[in-house]
Amino acid sequence: MTCRHRAGEGCDIRCAPPNGVTPRPTRARAGPALSPGVRWGQNEEVRVSSTRESAASPVTQVDEQESRAVAEAAREQEWRKPSFAKGLYLGQFDLSLIHPHPRPDAERVERGEAFLADLEAFLRTVDVAEIEREARIPDAVFQGLADLGAFGMKIPVDYGGLGLGQIYYNHALTMIGSVNASIGALLSAHQSVGVPEPLMLAGTEEQKRRWLPRCAAGAVSAFLLTEPEVGSDPARLQATAVPSEDGAEYVLDGTKLWTTNGVVAELLVVMARVPKSDGHRGGISAFIVEADAPGITVHRRNAFMGLRGLENGLTSLTGVRVPAENLVGQEGQGLKIALTTLNAGRLAIPAICAGAGKWSLKIAREWSAARVQWGRPVGEHAAVAHKIAFIAATTFALEAVVDLSGMLADEDRKDIRIEAALAKLWASEMGWRIADELVQIRGGRGFETAESLRARGERAVGAEQLLRDLRINRIFEGSTEIMHLLIAREAVDAHLTAAGDLIDPKLEVADRLKAAVSAGGFYARWLPQLVAGKGDLPTAYDEFGPLATHLRYVERTSRKLARATFYGMARWQGGLERRQGFLARVVDIGAELFAVAASCVRAEMIGADTPDQRRSAFQLAHTFAEQSRHRTERLLHELWDNTDATDERLASRVLDGDYAWLEDGILDPSEGTGPWITEAIPADATEDVHRRVIAPTQEA
Ligand SMILES: Cc1cc2nc3c(=O)[nH]c(=O)nc-3n(C[C@H](O)[C@H](O)[C@H](O)COP(=O)(O)OP(=O)(O)OC[C@H]3O[C@@H](n4cnc5c(N)ncnc54)[C@H](O)[C@@H]3O)c2cc1C
Repeated sequence: MTCRHRAGEGCDIRCAPPNGVTPRPTRARAGPALSPGVRWGQNEEVRVSSTRESAASPVTQVDEQESRAVAEAAREQEWRKPSFAKGLYLGQFDLSLIHPHPRPDAERVERGEAFLADLEAFLRTVDVAEIEREARIPDAVFQGLADLGAFGMKIPVDYGGLGLGQIYYNHALTMIGSVNASIGALLSAHQSVGVPEPLMLAGTEEQKRRWLPRCAAGAVSAFLLTEPEVGSDPARLQATAVPSEDGAEYVLDGTKLWTTNGVVAELLVVMARVPKSDGHRGGISAFIVEADAPGITVHRRNAFMGLRGLENGLTSLTGVRVPAENLVGQEGQGLKIALTTLNAGRLAIPAICAGAGKWSLKIAREWSAARVQWGRPVGEHAAVAHKIAFIAATTFALEAVVDLSGMLADEDRKDIRIEAALAKLWASEMGWRIADELVQIRGGRGFETAESLRARGERAVGAEQLLRDLRINRIFEGSTEIMHLLIAREAVDAHLTAAGDLIDPKLEVADRLKAAVSAGGFYARWLPQLVAGKGDLPTAYDEFGPLATHLRYVERTSRKLARATFYGMARWQGGLERRQGFLARVVDIGAELFAVAASCVRAEMIGADTPDQRRSAFQLAHTFAEQSRHRTERLLHELWDNTDATDERLASRVLDGDYAWLEDGILDPSEGTGPWITEAIPADATEDVHRRVIAPTQEA
């Protein structure tokens, strides 16, 4: 049962008990698993266990199996194009898939560079201090971005957009990321997950003609998936879309949380569950909805530790009538569309992180040379020098990963879903570390706000703001933990295809024998390929000069990683899906290998294009590869030697309250302030805070 009471009206559902210790639900074994269900995933119809009666409120209890089935059903199953990163996990390092580095055509370069020049000129006029101070992007900035065509960067020219492609969209976000992350989030929420991308992917021609020109002109859009009960686990989705009797409309009901751009949006993509009935296959579906449709209320604007300019709302939909032609794709395809949208959409965050890295590098360089302590510029003290080297080398790799993935996306000849997922995972983690190191290098000034520095007459460097702004990247668009699972699922896909039946506990003996023979055939061909490879030859990849050694390492380690994954499969079989520590390390090793390969290929390209920069590009790639190798070796070691089991036992006891005494001697000011999770609309949220910042683009 769930409640929809207003705060203060009294509710005993899911309210935190006064002592703060919530009774634990019965647990299975520790740690949720990869998305697949039985035999790691069947494309099965989700069983919805409801404690509500009407179709309009179907889900409150969803077990782990159902959650996994939903995630698996949303997964793209097929691989139609080659994938460089998938090969890395299989011990098949195929450099020819990324080298020579792909390049944009001359026409795209010309248009892209012209746009970047205009964007730069515009961004120089934006008062970023005002955004932070007022916690709002000024309306004039919205309008300026719309006038530039920034809301249609990725939308094809035929539909009124700039048609810049992924690569220049990324470059624009990199530039914007260096100025203000809230503007980056506004544009990427609109274009990477908002209305345009799902439409371009799964919309009909009529839908594209109807909405894409509006999106390009500045009809800000938002993506509404998350609900109070739905974060990483979309199987719990409760918003409903009930078809009308005549089939002409759907009626939408539900509460959507953390709707980025929701406060100012003109168009929404809403994920809602269509109940199964005659003529309706049902399932989670995507709808385009006018943000000012009757029944939609934005109850409040949420505030966060960072991204203070974000127009993020709590939105309710009550009896919202949406024409049937606003359904994108088919019923039940909503999550798949959302996930496929993210194939390239996930590159926005890495692009913003690359911008943050470049800005951090500039500040670290200038400040560390200027600030003198203990007789030297701080940058000459070894401890600070290490941080500067980390920032410089990692920034080079961040740009390498973003540009390579963006180019591969534009070429559309390779499957980049793993590359983009790795880029999101790795860049969000590295961007955060870079910002943290920058704060440290700046000392006390790193902790001081830009406004306070300015008021004291010093340069207004917002290092603490960067740290706050970047933190969310590890949580939204797939948290680091979920990205680990998502990528691990792809990394072990070949094994599941070959040997999945073997680990299905429900399989009959005869079928198991058949599966063993078929798996034996796969492994008899595949395992010998992992014994030796090009990376064992001292002259391999010689065309990369001093970087060849790093590519040989990547090739060797890719095989080692594939062997380790196989050992993990053999050792834990079906239980591997619960070894989140092991799987996360496998994924992280692949991310490091991808970043090293991308850096070497980029350095080689820079050397060919700009001989003056060859030496420094090689130095950056070399240093990055060395730093990365240390991380990789540690991860490889920890695959088999770690504290995972001890930690999981301890965590389990923590959850059981065995160590509650350790919390003695403190006060918890959050106690009594509200339940952990509520769908209640706040008592003070009486009016709709939705507002328009640019003139509506919709037809009268
Ligand atoms: C500023 C901001 C903007 C946002 N914008 C949007 C938006 O525009 N549209 C939208 O729909 N949503 C948006 N979100 C929601 C965002 O996508 C979610 O916060 C995110 O998906 C995580 O969900 P959650 O916060 O409910 O965490 P939970 O799912 O409750 O997870 C809590 C923790 O458990 C971990 N965890 C969960 N499941 C597993 C598992 N199976 N294995 C291991 N670890 C697990 C998570 O990684 C996390 O660390 C936004 C959120 C914020 C804060």
